[in-house]
Amino acid sequence: MRSRGLLEAASRAGLVALVVQSNRPRGLLHSHAMVFGRTPAPLPVAIAAREPAARLARLASASPVRLRLNLVNRIQRDVEAHNVVAEIRGRDRPEEIVLLGAHLDSWSLGTGAEDNGVNVALVLDVARAFRELGLRPGRTIRFALFTGEEEGLWGSSGYVERHRDELDRHVAAVIFDVGSGRTSGFFLNGRPELAPIVRAALHGLDADRHVVAPIDATDNFAFLLSGVPNLVAAQDTTGYLADYHAASDTLERVDAREARRNAELAAVLVWGLASTIERFPPRQRRAEVERLLVDAGLVEQMKAFDQWEDWKAGRVGFPAPDEPRTPGSP
Ligand SMILES: [Zn+2]
Repeated sequence: MRSRGLLEAASRAGLVALVVQSNRPRGLLHSHAMVFGRTPAPLPVAIAAREPAARLARLASASPVRLRLNLVNRIQRDVEAHNVVAEIRGRDRPEEIVLLGAHLDSWSLGTGAEDNGVNVALVLDVARAFRELGLRPGRTIRFALFTGEEEGLWGSSGYVERHRDELDRHVAAVIFDVGSGRTSGFFLNGRPELAPIVRAALHGLDADRHVVAPIDATDNFAFLLSGVPNLVAAQDTTGYLADYHAASDTLERVDAREARRNAELAAVLVWGLASTIERFPPRQRRAEVERLLVDAGLVEQMKAFDQWEDWKAGRVGFPAPDEPRTPGSP
């Protein structure tokens, strides 16, 4: 639940705090960012386990209930955190970059094994495999472990901002963020032209059921806003959704077999993308990105996530070098 509008309405209605019922059964607690933006939520929010919350609601329907909340969170500004970035330089076209990424941060209730430790391991495994085999790809393969994803995609946004002058040379960014769920294909994030390139890169591996619609949920989004072709692994969420962000997100929940399969798939894919002689779709201009966001119905979600204002103000979504640099120009 990330809704600036809802929280502001609650605040205007005079609520002093919001207690949200956990969406997991049997006393399992989980965490979520309540706002994604630069301004903290206007009132404190707590998640109560499902059954106690139901009991509270039952009692409250009969008579007034008093609830004492002891929330010890601190709001800090300008916290410094780091991405981890490495690369294997390409042999033929070193200036062109294929990026493979996952996020390094996690919520504190569990250990973040599924969200997203297992895919941090995937990124490291792919890098290690290429290195141990002494392989040099055609293009440069860059490996990125992003920080601050859970609080608002900060690490990937920071990466895109810092590397804005070389975004033209990022031919694709590939993100994994659904634990060890089986990968059936990739979100092409509004770029159907990527499908044949991905198909060829996968060399017949069974992960060809792609979804063209763009998604705003993980570290691909900063790349999308800057028009860089980006892929997110479309993974089976059955096991993942019960445990992510929850106290039960520990190593025991990882399906090691599927995790290994995903790592193999990622290795073949990024190798194929880095080696192909096919032309990648060009970087989109801001107006094209905005059309994509509008057509896909993502504007409401971006507003709820505190992202739309930043987009309109030109704080995210960097224009290509040949575009006017006026913020919010489209
Ligand atoms: Zn995640």
